[in-house]
Amino acid sequence: KESPAMKFQRQHMDPDGPSNNSNYCNQMMRRRNMTEGWCKPVNTFVHEPLVDVQAICLQGNITCKNGKPNCHKSNSSMNITDCHKTSGSKYPNCDYQTSQKERHVIVACEGNPYVPVHFDASV
Ligand code: ATP
Repeated sequence: KESPAMKFQRQHMDPDGPSNNSNYCNQMMRRRNMTEGWCKPVNTFVHEPLVDVQAICLQGNITCKNGKPNCHKSNSSMNITDCHKTSGSKYPNCDYQTSQKERHVIVACEGNPYVPVHFDASV
């Protein structure tokens, strides 16, 4: 079974990206199985080495959007791609808008080892 840490990597890690192509989200949301059963409405991919994203769990501790205390904000800004489902698109034809950004990344971390399990926000 997929662990929360592996699910985070599937949904949010793409170290070799970004591809500067407007179809990036359409391709990646499908390839990473986020368009099965529904179109996941919003998702962010991080284009940095896995070790650098795992290290965020040791960086600034903040409260998560859901009120839990286990969020951490990256010290540095990171290359990310935000994927937003377009308003007109309907399952099974999931269509996404692709936006490249440089932002500080906020993740929730859990476990031992203490690793990212949820992408909370970018700021
Ligand atoms: P993501 O939230 O990374 O986009 P998702 O939308 O699929 O993924 P979930 O399936 O809820 O959301 O995955 C988040 C995982 O992170 C769950 O296992 C959840 O229990 C865990 N988690 C741990 N801490 C938090 C937190 N502070 N906020 C949200 N989820 C958290």
